[in-house]
Amino acid sequence: MKENIATLAVWDAFRNPSECPLCSLLEKAEEKYVEFYLVNIMQPEARIAIEKTGYCKHHIRLLYQRRDLLPLAIQLNDILTIRIKEREKMFRNLIISAEDAGENNKKKGFIFFNKQEMQKESTCLICDALDKDRDINRRITIELWKKHDDFKELFKSSRGFCMKHEVDLIKTAKKRLSGKLFKDFTSVMDDIQKKEYKRIKEELEYFIDQYDYQNANRPWKTSRDAVPRVIRKIMGNAIVPEIKPKGPGE
Ligand SMILES: [Zn+2]
Ligand SMILES: [Zn+2]
Repeated sequence: MKENIATLAVWDAFRNPSECPLCSLLEKAEEKYVEFYLVNIMQPEARIAIEKTGYCKHHIRLLYQRRDLLPLAIQLNDILTIRIKEREKMFRNLIISAEDAGENNKKKGFIFFNKQEMQKESTCLICDALDKDRDINRRITIELWKKHDDFKELFKSSRGFCMKHEVDLIKTAKKRLSGKLFKDFTSVMDDIQKKEYKRIKEELEYFIDQYDYQNANRPWKTSRDAVPRVIRKIMGNAIVPEIKPKGPGE
């Protein structure tokens, strides 16, 4: 991600109200990466990266849900080719070891699958890209807060952050702000988060009370989508589908 584009994206995310601007940025980026790896599958660099790293379960599901199956099939074929080769190498070592393992397979030096080979199962191109974006967004947020009064105001009037990004921002601020600035930042953050947790808790309680027969025909106010928003507040960019929740008796 180019730095100036990333900076503009951070401004935009803070201008658009959400339960966590840093989660909104990651959700947009995630969509962009899923699209990229479906559209650019024939680019040699993309293919090499896909073969080498692959995807985690969550991102393979997102790719699959796009229903654009030809580019996904080409990628899976590349991944499968590499994984079959790796598997054959692992089994060659295993069989040599097994021949020489002695009674109860306990002979010293018995090679099972080595850790590095097994860990490949959990690597993911899209997670790696998002990790980089996450660091950049945190750093830009703190730098903007430090340098721009307009941004400070925007930050203060936001709906705050999810629980994960609250901690992330404090950690980044500790590294990048000194003395009084860090103290100011933590106290601003504490004020916002206290206010916003109170606000979202009230919305959730209003939603729960809406199911009380005494409140029949009462307006929903802002509580109708309180459940998915609370999930996002607690869990970070948890994938919660945008649904219109059912109300009592609907
Ligand atoms: Zn977040
Ligand atoms: Zn992933």
